Amino acid sequence: MLRLIPEKSLRFVAGALAVLLGLAAPAFAASATAAPLLAFSARIAGDDARTRLIIDFDRKPDFKVHYVANPYRVLIDLPETDFGIKAEQLEARGIFSEIRYGTMAEGRSRIVLTAKKPITVALAEVQEEQGAASYRLVIDAAIATKEAFQAQMEKQSWQEATAPATEQKPVMLPGGNAGGPFVIAVDAGHGGIDNGARGGITQTEEKNVTLAFAKALADALNTLPDTKAILTRDKDEFLSLSQRVQLARNEGANLLISIHADTLKQKDTRGATVYTISDKASDSLAASLAERENLSDQIAGIAFVDEPAEVADILLDLTRRETQAFSINLAQSVVSTFKNEVLLINNPHRHAGFRVLTAPDVPSILLELGFMSNKDDEQLLIDPAWQKKVAGLVAKAVGEYRATVVANGG
Ligand SMILES: [Zn+2]
Repeated sequence: MLRLIPEKSLRFVAGALAVLLGLAAPAFAASATAAPLLAFSARIAGDDARTRLIIDFDRKPDFKVHYVANPYRVLIDLPETDFGIKAEQLEARGIFSEIRYGTMAEGRSRIVLTAKKPITVALAEVQEEQGAASYRLVIDAAIATKEAFQAQMEKQSWQEATAPATEQKPVMLPGGNAGGPFVIAVDAGHGGIDNGARGGITQTEEKNVTLAFAKALADALNTLPDTKAILTRDKDEFLSLSQRVQLARNEGANLLISIHADTLKQKDTRGATVYTISDKASDSLAASLAERENLSDQIAGIAFVDEPAEVADILLDLTRRETQAFSINLAQSVVSTFKNEVLLINNPHRHAGFRVLTAPDVPSILLELGFMSNKDDEQLLIDPAWQKKVAGLVAKAVGEYRATVVANGG
């Protein structure tokens, strides 16, 4: 059911959705500057045929309802909203198999209702409570036929904000950007509505660990001569995987380092892993991690778009291969710098089809710092002193990589 690489079945039928590049819904622009809405209470009632969701807001919420398939989802888009709701109040039930909510981007929040069966929103309205003291958003969802779901998907026209709608930059050679500083895109995994993994003991969310580490890493990298680190995100916001790649390319990055700290079923597995991209995964652990990481976009309700046709370009293919060689070089540099300093998993350099590593012209690695599912790793991962030490080692590895690349005329 879950696939590593987007396939035809995940492609969107609605023509409008094929053009997923766009800006935030203009309807929300006006409220972006105001204080966020407060959702202070919620409840769900109903059965597996019809389910009602009620959310109370302090002010009148502007909202939009959208449908997305594979799996069947209803998206409720809202202006920036603080969700002061107890998790159990929005626990999935009735026809919903999963409910998520959180920040999408500056000034935008989203609720994603996932269902096992096709559904339709029979009612979606805002009711004013006595004297406009609060406002109640009522969503009634009921099961529908596949055809009805399909029909409402085709009828809707909306633009999802994914990658910035800029033209692709001309492809640069890896390690290019001649003359300017050496640019490293540091990518804090997950964010906003996508929390990532969660620590078993401290309940710390992966998105916060990755952000803290990314900031420490950017600081460490910026101490290297003639180097500029940029963060793909510097706060708790959602970025699609393609946005992360595009941000690195737009900045003319010489490297991209994506930071993660996931969980495994095997709670005793611990240590760091460095991933590079490949069509075929090095092992089953790598395959399942990539599969889960690649779900990030789906969690936020974003549809997969097929890779552009440039994939077939022969010159680009050469660049891609060269880039891959540089990525492997960097991964090996990180592994050897970590040795005896940071605990590594066995076979610490692995590879799989991570979508965040697909920039054809930016050597990229994904660094799993450790596993939030292991109690010892969890303690280290949330420790600022450990983060600082490891960030320093990654920066050292980048310095050594750069020395090699320059020595080889790259
Ligand atoms: Zn992750």
